[in-house]
Amino acid sequence: QAKLAGRNRAVEYRSEFDANAVERLQLVRHLRDALDNGEFTVLFQPQFGCDGRPLGIEALVRWQHPVRGLLAPAEFIGACEESGLMQQLGRQVLLEAASHHVRLVEAGLSGLRIAVNVSAAQFTEELYTDVEYVVRTLALPRGALELELTESAVMQSPEHAITLMQRLADLGVCFSIDDFGTGYSSLAYLKRFPIDRLKIDRSFVQDLDRNAQDAAICRSIIELAKSLDIGTVAEGVETVQQERWLRDHGCVALQGYLFGRPQRFDALLDDLRARGVEGPITA
Ligand code: C2E
Ligand code: MG
Ligand code: MG
Ligand code: MG
Repeated sequence: QAKLAGRNRAVEYRSEFDANAVERLQLVRHLRDALDNGEFTVLFQPQFGCDGRPLGIEALVRWQHPVRGLLAPAEFIGACEESGLMQQLGRQVLLEAASHHVRLVEAGLSGLRIAVNVSAAQFTEELYTDVEYVVRTLALPRGALELELTESAVMQSPEHAITLMQRLADLGVCFSIDDFGTGYSSLAYLKRFPIDRLKIDRSFVQDLDRNAQDAAICRSIIELAKSLDIGTVAEGVETVQQERWLRDHGCVALQGYLFGRPQRFDALLDDLRARGVEGPITA
């Protein structure tokens, strides 16, 4: 009897597993079609310096699903990475994001960086080929394109990462380390990577003004960046209290719902124009 029940449980578990596997396969098939049909689109969120000037915009991918509407990356990035589709998706995002550079120039905002997220699965020679193509065909000036890498992407194979980043930097690309503080970074390597700034993870910014440990972590990251002579961007800034704390403690740039949600490029451009703000002096 017990044996039978055990077997039934095993069967139940097994069919559940299969249902998940089937769903996963279906998702991958849908993702492949979506890539072919151009269903992915990019929203942009602004980054501002502490003086209020816009410094950059971050491209954040969305899936314009024909039935389910606009889907966030959490719904599909993992499946893309696991099924080998991330390279193709990343290429589309890179092309679309960078293609807006000319519009920034026309709007007198040529100094704004366009930041594109790159996951560990994309951090390969193919990325170099794609970036080289985009930089050349769009004639992007130095500093116009920023790649956001995670600690895990670069620490997986640090020597390989240093070489690849150096070659990309030679194309005029700059780098930030995304979600900094949540992964594992060797400080010894950190100074050898051509990094331009650290992005303080939202999880530390969230309770900054209420949690002494989070405040200590933010302070340490800002100090670390200063001593490495690189910049900082705080992500997920939602309140004026957080803004004030970060500005008082020397964080260079701020990004979050307080300043603007991810939105369509045209809407963002209208926003920046309406603020009457000028871009950074350095082109
Ligand atoms: P991330 O690069 O750390 O991006 C920040 C995320 O926080 C974005 O979520 C953004 O919409 C959200 N956010 C920004 N400000 C606030 C705020 O004030 N409050 C709160 N609660 N959230 C805020 P999103 O767009 O859902 O993206 C999630 C993650 O997906 C990104 O985290 C990034 O790791 C990944 N991702 C997005 N686009 C791409 C892409 O094109 N390629 C790759 N490889 N990954 C991407
Ligand atoms: Mg990012
Ligand atoms: Mg981030
Ligand atoms: Mg994050």
